[in-house]
Amino acid sequence: MAYVILGTCINDAACVDVCPVACIHPAPAEAGFATADMLYIDPQICIDCNACAEACPINAIVREQDLTPKLLRYKTLNAEMALARSKVA
Ligand code: SF4
Ligand code: SF4
Repeated sequence: MAYVILGTCINDAACVDVCPVACIHPAPAEAGFATADMLYIDPQICIDCNACAEACPINAIVREQDLTPKLLRYKTLNAEMALARSKVA
């Protein structure tokens, strides 16, 4: 299980600094941050600690198991963006 970032993300990166495993991308120092529509969480690395959800000012981070059917697409989107990043890294 992992946490998932929703499309309401405003890219303030408040979650990035609190993640103990650095699985939220793109971080401000990484390529693509300035132009990203939203950040995403790599589900392969996330350890379900909840720190990011507590840090997010607009509640844009949700536990995977709490996603409503309407929001499930963000689970796929986060995973796809993480996979795309791993292929160019
Ligand atoms: S739940 Fe924890 S490990 Fe997962 S993305 Fe958030 S801060 Fe990082
Ligand atoms: S803290 Fe919330 S709004 Fe800010 S970048 Fe992270 S997910 Fe997006």
